[in-house]
Amino acid sequence: MYDVVIIGGGVIGGNIARELSKYKLEVCMIEKEEDVSCGCSKANSGIVHGGYADTPGTLKSELCVKGNRMFADLEKDLNFGYRETGSLVLAFSDEEKEHLEKLYNDGIENGVRGLKIIDGEEVIKMEPRLNKEVKWALYCSDAGVCSPYEFTIALIENAIKNGMELRLSEEVIGLEKSGDIFKVKTNKCVIESRYVINAAGVYSDKVSKMIGVDTFDIIPRKGEYIIFNKDQAYLVNKVIFQVPTKKGKGILVTTTYHGNLLIGPDAEQVAHKDDVSTDEKSLREIVDSARKSVSGFDMKKALTSFAGVRPTSSTKDFIVEETDVKGFLNVTGDSPGLTSSPAIAKKVIGILRDSGLKLEENNHFIAYRKPIFIKKDRDFKGDINAIDPKKHIICRCEAVTEAEIVDALNREIKICSIDAIKRRTRAGMGTCQGAFCRPRVRKLIAETLNIKEEDVGGLAPRSSDLHNRVKRMDIMKL
Ligand SMILES: Cc1cc2nc3c(=O)[nH]c(=O)nc-3n(C[C@H](O)[C@H](O)[C@H](O)COP(=O)(O)OP(=O)(O)OC[C@H]3O[C@@H](n4cnc5c(N)ncnc54)[C@H](O)[C@@H]3O)c2cc1C
Repeated sequence: MYDVVIIGGGVIGGNIARELSKYKLEVCMIEKEEDVSCGCSKANSGIVHGGYADTPGTLKSELCVKGNRMFADLEKDLNFGYRETGSLVLAFSDEEKEHLEKLYNDGIENGVRGLKIIDGEEVIKMEPRLNKEVKWALYCSDAGVCSPYEFTIALIENAIKNGMELRLSEEVIGLEKSGDIFKVKTNKCVIESRYVINAAGVYSDKVSKMIGVDTFDIIPRKGEYIIFNKDQAYLVNKVIFQVPTKKGKGILVTTTYHGNLLIGPDAEQVAHKDDVSTDEKSLREIVDSARKSVSGFDMKKALTSFAGVRPTSSTKDFIVEETDVKGFLNVTGDSPGLTSSPAIAKKVIGILRDSGLKLEENNHFIAYRKPIFIKKDRDFKGDINAIDPKKHIICRCEAVTEAEIVDALNREIKICSIDAIKRRTRAGMGTCQGAFCRPRVRKLIAETLNIKEEDVGGLAPRSSDLHNRVKRMDIMKL
């Protein structure tokens, strides 16, 4: 019997889990995949948004601004990778300037700090490699970038350290309430709990309907990206947006937390919630649109393409509420759900308290979580031998050591796949995309866990055949 069961190990479930682990509660998280952060929390832009893009008065606008302000402290505790960079929304005409003014006014109403509209000259001073045709931009000093899957992993590792139980590879297939107790039926057993939090992302409408709450649908909206080698990151320092379109925030150009150039995403409603395929038409549109902001990227340096599916709600806002079924909470949201997730979790704690859950402080709560991976970019001043005295580099492109991979395997979340190691250490994320290190990672996982190599999980289904596509599309020449 648990006090709270959380369905879904994404960034929203992860933040809720960590907040709950600050109290003396029996908490269990159920995740259908073999690792956490396998939904849209792993495939997004990783932007910590300023909070000017959401309509004032919505939950999105309130929780995005609050969430943004929590990232610096979370990074100090959890070491997942966050950097404040600032952002620019570019305008190329007078009509587009009107959009900037609207965003500015909305931002001020939402309580965003560090906003100003600047002229083209100042924009180019800030970012010399942008398209010189730019006339104005909305600058927001408070925006940043983070590593979204490492954030999710860090939150859940920390929640487990503080007492939460994680059940991986277990799918919730039914829900019932008998008296005050929920029976959560999974593909493996029945789990009892006093409260249930539905944080199932694109499947949150399906889970909600299991208990008879049919108040919203999730409309899956896919976004595709192209990620480039780190030598392309000299092009931009800040997150570069264009004025939003009806479909959303538009195509951005940014340097990721780990120093790759990233362009995307588009927004396309899809029939299947797990559709993370990429296609030439979308990729061409992304390249064309990104080139309006900055044209200098070299398509030969594109590493791969990928896609994520936004859990867009039919209510057009986040859903963070106790439902008509007392003790059952729906918590779901598309962009800026990553930015807002720490504030969403605080709101959930308030709802649980109001609903009668006794929240007694856990005096043994440990806030700190040690990093797995030591960031080794051009600023790395350290000695790699100090990280791994055996001096064993497993992934040459990203300088990932054996010690880092062994550390990842011995953490709170029990993992057993090349994909899980990739998300935690970056082995396989470099120029050769794992061609060199994949067999070595597989061998090391097998040796460390004392299992057969054929029992080590591989990579998640991939959508990218980017190099051949780039040739076919001939976009290198554009
Ligand atoms: C293309 C794109 C770009 C984005 N960019 C940004 C951005 O830059 N900044 C920002 O703030 N936000 C961004 N977002 C939004 C952000 O990624 C999401 O709001 C956030 O990741 C949602 O987290 P989640 O935990 O609800 O969902 P998920 O990460 O999808 O987690 C839900 C989990 O529930 C599990 N699950 C589902 N059904 C069951 C079941 N029956 N039993 C057990 N487990 C189940 C899934 O396997 C999954 O792991 C973007 C999203 C996309 C797709």
